[in-house]
Amino acid sequence: MKGKLKYKGGPGSGHHGHSGIPGKVGGSLPSGGSAKPADLNITTSLGTSAARDAKTRKMLNGWADEYLPESVIDRVPRIIVYTSEERFNNAMKLVGLYDKPLEKGQYIAGFNEGHTISLRQVGPMNLQEDWKNAFLHEVGHSVWDKANSDKKQGWENRWAKYPNFDKFTWYSRASYTEGFAEAFAAYCGYPKGSRKASDPKVQEVFDLIEDMIK
Ligand SMILES: [Zn+2]
Repeated sequence: MKGKLKYKGGPGSGHHGHSGIPGKVGGSLPSGGSAKPADLNITTSLGTSAARDAKTRKMLNGWADEYLPESVIDRVPRIIVYTSEERFNNAMKLVGLYDKPLEKGQYIAGFNEGHTISLRQVGPMNLQEDWKNAFLHEVGHSVWDKANSDKKQGWENRWAKYPNFDKFTWYSRASYTEGFAEAFAAYCGYPKGSRKASDPKVQEVFDLIEDMIK
């Protein structure tokens, strides 16, 4: 498979990412506060207004500032935001993901081809929390792609050994790379500067992530 999918539950399915994680507050820059505001390479698909484009860019850059570790900002590839479902579907078709069957009530929120993150901003994806998690998840794939191969092997080995790697979301079980992307998104949901989990098993995962993003 060339791309990496993020399946999300449909409305009412109960699969809404990380809302159950304690301590998820967000909102502050790391101490020192001298970070430059994020300026990600974001393109929106045609057929939308300039005002909506600006709002979309502001939202994604705001999330990058609020949630992404500083060392990760440079690893974010270009982002294409599809405000048209048809165009998003065509983009998936181009990378060979179109015919992949989905379970009833699921939809694809984004995919990452390495050089591009594509996000679908239509229908249920207008739910900000879902969209934010899809963004963080796809960035997680880029973090993975650029990580050192020994560290990736370490993650894979521990994934195979410890079932606690399953715990972030139902979708984590899809594969160790999807599990990494989900864990990364969960990690980003913790406030910057104090990404400490009360559960030692979760903290073990966070330690691995921190080692990968150094
Ligand atoms: Zn994924």
